[in-house]
Amino acid sequence: MKYLQLLGAVLTSAGITTAALAQEEPAQTLFTNVNIFDGTSKTLMENASVLIEGNLIKTVSTGEISAADATVIDGGGRTLMPGLVEAHAHLMLMGPSLPVMEANTTWEDFAIHGVKMSEMYLMQGFTTVRDAGGANAGLQRAVNAGTIVGPRIYPSGAFIGTRGGHADFANFTSPVGESTNMGRLNMAQEVDSVAEVQKFGRNNFRMGASQLKFMQSGGVVSAFDPWQLLAGSQEEIEAAVQVANEYGSYVMAHSYRKEAIMTALNAGVRSIEHGFMFDCEISALMEEKGAYITTNLTAFDPGLLDIPAVNSVPASLRKAKSASAAFVDYIPNMKQCPAKRAFQTDCVGGVGDCSKQIAYEKFLNADFFDPHTALVTMTSTGGELVALSGDFMNPYPDGKLGVIEEGAYADILLVDGNPLEDFSVMGTSDKWFDGPTRPYSVETMPLIMKDGVIYKNTLN
Ligand SMILES: [Zn+2]
Repeated sequence: MKYLQLLGAVLTSAGITTAALAQEEPAQTLFTNVNIFDGTSKTLMENASVLIEGNLIKTVSTGEISAADATVIDGGGRTLMPGLVEAHAHLMLMGPSLPVMEANTTWEDFAIHGVKMSEMYLMQGFTTVRDAGGANAGLQRAVNAGTIVGPRIYPSGAFIGTRGGHADFANFTSPVGESTNMGRLNMAQEVDSVAEVQKFGRNNFRMGASQLKFMQSGGVVSAFDPWQLLAGSQEEIEAAVQVANEYGSYVMAHSYRKEAIMTALNAGVRSIEHGFMFDCEISALMEEKGAYITTNLTAFDPGLLDIPAVNSVPASLRKAKSASAAFVDYIPNMKQCPAKRAFQTDCVGGVGDCSKQIAYEKFLNADFFDPHTALVTMTSTGGELVALSGDFMNPYPDGKLGVIEEGAYADILLVDGNPLEDFSVMGTSDKWFDGPTRPYSVETMPLIMKDGVIYKNTLN
């Protein structure tokens, strides 16, 4: 309750900020006495100050900033850094399995889960979340309006994919073409031709998507598809890219096998999701095409076999075992031939379990790589990736995300200590679901600001 009361108090002062914004001068906040991680550098900018005006960063300086009317926050020598970017979440999918969500879950269940996930993400330090399938614009609208608490959201609308593929949520006995729960809610759509890719892709943008999600490979927790699947013809994937380009945006493709990844990149896909069979040839093609990859590193953990969505379904467990064996070269390949990689958790499940998975995914990023690589992955690279949604469809086009620089959005964290040296201050856990319940908010993150509004402040 302590945090909820705090949140209430902070939101009340945010209301005053909004009132001030209606007048001539935008409200200013001045952070003093901070060391800055800017989203890219290997060292902190020490003894600096940052001035926020309205919802943007106005000045970053190691000299004195004069701002007579600003609210001053003494950072007490803490690290000031960009809010985190989650590049692949499913805010609406509460699990416990895809068949249960198809058969028994109503729009109310999905909505309530989405509200709780949004709040959890923000309080874990994520000021931006790209939803990789399932969410339309409703959650984003509620967050932007201040009706609920959450991060900036980049929705993908319905997953689109072939019959029997990774976007096929229909019951096992459901005839071809039958209406589904997930289809009626525009959370997943089956597409089996260029025309259907075009129709449902355009419908996603109509429903508020900022980019499209195409299901190319299969999966581990899904019912009908081997993870090695190569779903979608070259023409169908190119059709998805064509529709996205009509809107000035891009396609993210769920791709595991090398053949799938190469096909996607050559068709113009800009964001490879999972990309478990990543190698140096893929890295070179990604660089040529200006593409990004996001990978849930928990896939490389033996604990994968223990998560409820996997071990409750025998076929999923068998698939998880073969996938783990096939993906062993990802980490060494990424170290040898680094590509632009953003952070992803890909949690489908309850809010408590997803909070644990986020903490563990943070930990793995620093453990498999190093703190600086993990921080860049979680901030500036994620910011670049979401901006591929372009001038027309980017819901937040007025500044950069994931960086501390003049003109960027004022999405800011204060953390106790230096995360380049001690990454645990980012709220990590070295255990997955067998770890303890995570706190409501990261305790070493005393201040969370999004869009110039403070959502948490335990400094005093
Ligand atoms: Zn996913």
